[in-house]
Amino acid sequence: MQVYADNAATTKISDTALQAMMPCFANYYGNPSSLHTVGQEAKEVLENARTKIAACLGCEPREIYFTSGGSEADNQAIISAARLGERKGKKHIVTTAFEHHAVLHTLMKLEKEGFTVTYLDVKHNHNVSAQQVKDAIREDTCLVTTMYANNEIGSILPIKEIGAVCKEAGVPFHTDAVQAVGHVHINVKDENIDMLSLSGHKFHGPKGVGALYCRRGLPLVNLIEGGAQERGKRAGTENLPAICGMAAALEEACAHMDENAAKVTAMRDKLIAGLSKIPHCALNGDPVNRLPGNVSFCFEGIEGESLLLLLDMKGICASSGSACTSGSLDPSHVLLAIGRIHDVAHGSLRLSLSSYNTDEEIDYILAELPGVVEYLRNMSPVWRDLLTGKRQFIL
Ligand SMILES: *Cc1c(COP(=O)(O)O)cnc(C)c1O
Repeated sequence: MQVYADNAATTKISDTALQAMMPCFANYYGNPSSLHTVGQEAKEVLENARTKIAACLGCEPREIYFTSGGSEADNQAIISAARLGERKGKKHIVTTAFEHHAVLHTLMKLEKEGFTVTYLDVKHNHNVSAQQVKDAIREDTCLVTTMYANNEIGSILPIKEIGAVCKEAGVPFHTDAVQAVGHVHINVKDENIDMLSLSGHKFHGPKGVGALYCRRGLPLVNLIEGGAQERGKRAGTENLPAICGMAAALEEACAHMDENAAKVTAMRDKLIAGLSKIPHCALNGDPVNRLPGNVSFCFEGIEGESLLLLLDMKGICASSGSACTSGSLDPSHVLLAIGRIHDVAHGSLRLSLSSYNTDEEIDYILAELPGVVEYLRNMSPVWRDLLTGKRQFIL
């Protein structure tokens, strides 16, 4: 059996999205900036896609800027707010300790330029509160950027409350909503969101395309100079097939959101209940305010990487959290941020589900995973030390 349970990394493209892309390759090959008929047909298709995305977020089409993905949208939102702030002498930014690297690394670049960043603690409930944001905002704060939902541990942040705090303080609010868009209901106006990043491939659209919502009146700086595409804020001939695929995927996701969320949540809860029975493990992430598809655990006494390899041999595709990329032995910054110590953080596993998963697959994971954990523990010197009392159990 092949089980794809790594939907937080990327998702399979939907048939609807694929079908929406085909005519863009075959028929709408014109450049949307061209004044002739073929160009103007492509322009119309482009604007239709923009309208669909705006409808799903509750904003105006002209507040949507297409980008190459979530990372670019994050970079552009943060750099734009920083440049605006710096012109007013405001160089302080509030964020959380468990943001995606697209946010964290952009902020680190700004810190080198003299910005100060407050990283909010996420140990309580593996989440942040609007009160923490309120307490962190200062006279010189030029931006609050907090993710909508965490990609590793699934916590959904109190975005509407954070938005209200920011609005009251007059501070622009950006949210990296890459994990949330298409999965939970979002309305940027109701939630007082000034800027929002999304990415097509996290909701069964194509890769390499995303969008930034930016509230009208809030200035953007362009990261890419060139032509006047995207209201002069993002140069380059538009990736029309990808944009249409993303719009179709999002429209489909929003139309079926409640039924998909109910189905995925039920599978998630079954997995969490079953895996919780494994001794010396802990659930990562907010147990209540949680993405429908996220299951994240730490298992004491094992290495997440070995677990992944053995699961892969059984046909189960999972993730150990986003760290441990080629050669790095550092555990995930997210798991450290929620208070997991190094040894425990190394034994992490993320299973991220989508509506394409089935009950049979969940049963298969539940049948196989406990045995794999036991097998690895039986081989582990750390586990032996834990059993003999040479080391203390933490979980
Ligand atoms: C995947 C992801 C990104 C990056 O999006 P890309 O389109 O791959 O650049 C940013 N933030 C979060 C929370 C993500 O999950």
